[in-house]
Amino acid sequence: MTDSIFKDALNRLKKYGEAASISNDVIESLMHPFSILKATLPIRMDDGSTRYFTGYRCRYNNTLGPTKGGIRFHPDVNMAEIQALALWMTIKCAVVGLPFGGGKGGIVVDPKTLSPLELERLSRAYVRAMADFIGPQTDIPAPDVYTNARIMGWMMDEYEAIKRVKAPGVITGKPVRLGGSLGRDDATGRGAYLCIQELSKKLLLEPEKTTVAVQGFGNGGYHVARLLHDAGYKIVAISDSKGGIYSPKGFDVASIYEEKQRSRVVRAVYCKQSVCELVEHDVISNEDLLSLDVDILIPAALEGVITRENAASIKAKYIVEVANGPILSNADPILEENGIQIVPDVLANAGGVTVSYFEWVQNRQGYKWSLEEVHARLQDIMVDAFNEVWDLAQARNLSMRSAAYAVAIERIGEAVEAHGTRDYFSS
Ligand code: NAD
Repeated sequence: MTDSIFKDALNRLKKYGEAASISNDVIESLMHPFSILKATLPIRMDDGSTRYFTGYRCRYNNTLGPTKGGIRFHPDVNMAEIQALALWMTIKCAVVGLPFGGGKGGIVVDPKTLSPLELERLSRAYVRAMADFIGPQTDIPAPDVYTNARIMGWMMDEYEAIKRVKAPGVITGKPVRLGGSLGRDDATGRGAYLCIQELSKKLLLEPEKTTVAVQGFGNGGYHVARLLHDAGYKIVAISDSKGGIYSPKGFDVASIYEEKQRSRVVRAVYCKQSVCELVEHDVISNEDLLSLDVDILIPAALEGVITRENAASIKAKYIVEVANGPILSNADPILEENGIQIVPDVLANAGGVTVSYFEWVQNRQGYKWSLEEVHARLQDIMVDAFNEVWDLAQARNLSMRSAAYAVAIERIGEAVEAHGTRDYFSS
């Protein structure tokens, strides 16, 4: 699946570009990643041996600004996946109107098998390999799957040591004490939550009567589940890489998070202070979770989990894509035929990159914003973007994904036009 994920992403780009009558020149310019670096990262392990890891970074398209995108640590990382993710970042930044292009990076590794010091050496080695490829004005990484603020801090530290300057704007999602923004930790989940709030207003969904299943209980999945739970939505299913739990009565998300911090597994518990007891539930697989009869399904783990093979079994009325690319394009017609409305990844999970943008702005200003300011600005951007996409979808009878791509590609097209014709003379 992963090998074809970039082709899948290109097919969608072409299809939605054509549906929106975007100039073929602009679509063609988006079919080709600008630049990709692949590096071997030799790491001294704690036992004295040396292991060789592979790292990638793709700067996909910088028409709208420096490229921006996360770094993931996962055993399945490969070049095609990184290119697809970088293309989606290009579209996403344009959908929410940020002055960024799209990029992405990753290391082929299962980080759970490394000690903390091995993980730090690997993170630093990645930056040594990429130091001339990334930069505050060229390409700005951030966290993604199995990377976090701590890793971003190590990476910034390595970059500053190599360049002999203070350069907090080289990376976002850093610890707050190293120039990270308040509100970056839950920004991806909060952005998705704001989209669901807007969707609920449009469709008159009542939180207390709305059931939600969340696949993936990491940064994106946990925070969207927490915010929805606090707003009264019923979180009836949660899973992580080891499997999931289901109860039609709904779960207390904070308790499950606390327990996961303690035991590293998603368990159906209810906690009062530090005392947790098991609550009634069914144990389900990740595949079971996808086909639950719920109102809102939130895939928040990895790409390609909903395909032509399992699309017909999806019973949710709405899918909100917190993960990048959880639905393959060959599943689109089946979901559409079954009347399932999708809030696409390039809109639903854009809260993360939006607060990363705020972090970068604060680093450049040398000034810190309050949490209230971050939340208010994020809300403005997400609500505006949601409504712009929604209104276009209604006006042109498009899916929300198609409308989001139309908004993005039109913006990129205007920028291509405004850049002028220098390329004609220099090549
Ligand atoms: P994370 O590492 O914090 O969490 C990943 C979660 O997915 C974990 O709970 C893990 O157990 C679970 N998981 C892994 N493999 C799984 C599987 N096969 N089935 C079910 N669950 C599985 O990662 P994250 O940052 O939350 O990223 C999740 C998704 O959200 C990714 O697609 C990522 O690209 C996307 N995303 C993240 C951000 C961000 O700011 N972190 C922003 C935009 C999009």
